[in-house]
Amino acid sequence: MAERFGIHMRGGVITERDADYCTVRVRIPAGNISIDQVRGIATLAKRYGCGTVHITTRQTIEIPHVKPTDLPKIGRRLAKNGTPLGSERDEVVNIIACPGTERCKYANIDTISLATKIDGKLFGREMPVKMRISLSGCPNACTSPMLNEIGIIGRIEPLRIPGMCTGCGTCVKYCKENAIVIKNGVSVLDPAKCVQCGVCIQSCPFHLLQSKHQHYLIVVGGRRGRHPQVGRTLMMVENEEQAVQAVERIVQWVYRRAWSGRLLSEQLDDLHFDEFRKSIAEEFSTGTGSQTPG
Ligand code: SF4
Ligand code: SF4
Ligand code: SF4
Repeated sequence: MAERFGIHMRGGVITERDADYCTVRVRIPAGNISIDQVRGIATLAKRYGCGTVHITTRQTIEIPHVKPTDLPKIGRRLAKNGTPLGSERDEVVNIIACPGTERCKYANIDTISLATKIDGKLFGREMPVKMRISLSGCPNACTSPMLNEIGIIGRIEPLRIPGMCTGCGTCVKYCKENAIVIKNGVSVLDPAKCVQCGVCIQSCPFHLLQSKHQHYLIVVGGRRGRHPQVGRTLMMVENEEQAVQAVERIVQWVYRRAWSGRLLSEQLDDLHFDEFRKSIAEEFSTGTGSQTPG
C-alpha cells in the first residue's frame, strides 16, 4: 500500500479525467528510444492500459488508462525496460532535442549528446517551478528552445580565409538573412544580420569559409501556453561541458531563488535576471566570439 501511494505521488503519473484511472508518462531524453524499448512499452500498454500509447509534445510516450493498483508493477517494469517513470510536475521534466549533428545537415552541435548529459545530471530534480529544457542544433530552432524555461541553440560563426575569396557569390545566394554582400570582389558579412546558422560555410565551393568555434546560445525564461513568451538571452558558451555547467548553474539559481506558483517567465525581473546574467558571464568568462569575415 505504501509503495502504491508513493508511486502515485510521483511526477510521471497523471490522474485522468476519470479519476479511477491514470496516465503513466515515461522518461525518454531527447526522444531517443530503441526498438526493443518501444516493444517493452507496447507490451505494458497492452497489458495494463487500453492498448494505445500517446506521443507527447515533450518527446515522451504516455501509457493511458492505467489502474492505480498496477502502478508499482508498471514502474518496476518501465525501469527494467530502460524507460523509467517520467515527470510533469514542478521539476526538471523530459529534456527535448532535435536530431542535431547525428542526422541533420543544418546542425552545428550534437544535441542528443548534450541532452543526454543534462538529463543524467538534472532530470526529475524537484524545483519551485516547472523547468522545461529544449535543445536545437541550429537557429532554425525546430524544438522551439526560445519558448522553454531553458533553451540551447547551436550556432556557428563564419570566418573567411583572407585573400582567397573569388567573389563567386554562392554564399550570398545561400544566406537567407541577406547578411553577405560582395564588395570589391570579396564576400563581406554584416554581423548585425547574421544569425550564425553556418549555411554559408557549407555553401562555399572553394571551402573558404570556416569557423573556429561552435557556440551554444543559452536563453532563459521562455514559455508556451496561453501567453507565449520568448526567453531572454543569457550567454553563449563554446563547448558541451560549459553548456552542461551553465544549465546546472541556471537550475541552481532558480531552485534557490524562485517562488513557486508562478511561471519562471513571470518572475525573471524579481529574480534579478540581469544581475545573474552578469555574474554567470564573469564566472564563465564568455565572449560572443565576434570574429567575422569581411
Ligand atoms: S533545429 Fe536545425 S539542426 Fe535541429 S533539426 Fe532543425 S534544422 Fe536541423
Ligand atoms: S551564418 Fe550568417 S552569413 Fe552565413 S548563411 Fe547564416 S546568417 Fe548568413
Ligand atoms: S566566400 Fe566562397 S562562396 Fe562566398 S564569394 Fe567567396 S568564394 Fe564564393
